[in-house]
Amino acid sequence: MTVGIIGGGQLGRMMALAGYPLGLEFLFLDRSNDTPAAAVAPTLVGEFTDRRLLRELARRSEVLTFDWENISLESVQALGRRTHVAPPLAALAMSQDRISEKKLFEKLGIPTTRYAAVDSAAALGRALRRVGLPGVLKTRRLGYDGKGQAIVRSAEDAAAAWSALGGVPLIYEEFVAFDYEVSIIGARSRHGEVAIYPLNRNLHRDGILRLTLAPWSAPALQRAASRHLRRVLEHFRYEGVLNIEFFVHRGRLLANETAPRVHNSGHWTIEGAATSQFENHLRAILGLPLGATRARGHAAMINLIGEMPSRERWLGERELHWHDYGKSARPGRKLGHITVLGNTARERDAAAKRLLAAIDPRSLREWRSRTR
Ligand code: AMP
Repeated sequence: MTVGIIGGGQLGRMMALAGYPLGLEFLFLDRSNDTPAAAVAPTLVGEFTDRRLLRELARRSEVLTFDWENISLESVQALGRRTHVAPPLAALAMSQDRISEKKLFEKLGIPTTRYAAVDSAAALGRALRRVGLPGVLKTRRLGYDGKGQAIVRSAEDAAAAWSALGGVPLIYEEFVAFDYEVSIIGARSRHGEVAIYPLNRNLHRDGILRLTLAPWSAPALQRAASRHLRRVLEHFRYEGVLNIEFFVHRGRLLANETAPRVHNSGHWTIEGAATSQFENHLRAILGLPLGATRARGHAAMINLIGEMPSRERWLGERELHWHDYGKSARPGRKLGHITVLGNTARERDAAAKRLLAAIDPRSLREWRSRTR
């Protein structure tokens, strides 16, 4: 049984690695043959909009899925109803536009930040008056890892942000002086079974995820986040894994964004949960029973960004798991991650601090500056 995956990044690679023990095979579509996934599975090379290649991918696969949300919706829609695509394209369309995402949160009663759509300098002026300062101006589409965003603290900032980002549809939203960030990941299968993971606490720096601690023990937040996630899953009659990121502000959750796919903040589940998010995504889209989402111990996941540290130095650490995506080094690029497990949250935090002190001291400072 073959799973066709549009996009051959590290998420696709980890999906394939999780699927082989289940007896699955994989076929990818990506622009190049030099991708993390191409090292572990065959890849059709061409544009994501290439109808002929998409048809070939569909013909050779049981189900089509994707490893990033900015693939061409129209091209996949054009494959028609006979091709089974999961997660549903309606969820993909929603996540491609920050305004549709906000509207969905509002419709489902999920608290989110105040916002206004901005498509002209005059609209930005109105948005500033309505939403207030400070705020964040973001592109509605194609933003990731903090790209296409500017913080606005004054009218001068607004003018600079407009000249940097204007010309494409934008969203202006209130800046949230959050205490910290969390995310929740869960799966819904073709048969309606739902499985939700323990909450993740996330630390971003410069818009990029640096650290995830899981499980993050905050029972009231876990209950609220699970309820919100379940609503989104049921709304779309979803198939696959979905993630929602939240700001925690004065003890309450405010939804920031959602991704209809496996997510960086769930990488800890490979070694830290009974079933990984990658395996549960595959089980969900194939209609197989979902696996348990219970945590095994306490995990910290640290992203390796820009350059890979020395394997020799770290592999001797107890309960440390190394993931090298096989990508060439470039500033700001996610090249791999480390997951370290502890028997207690305290042990996990100590290990994460030791690793960050050597690998990413700026993120350690950021973490220390945020109280619980
Ligand atoms: P996003 O691409 O929307 O997930 O933004 C990336 C990161 O930027 C978030 O995880 C936050 O750390 C920060 N950020 C985004 N929007 C806001 C906001 N409205 N207020 C405060 N921080 C934000």
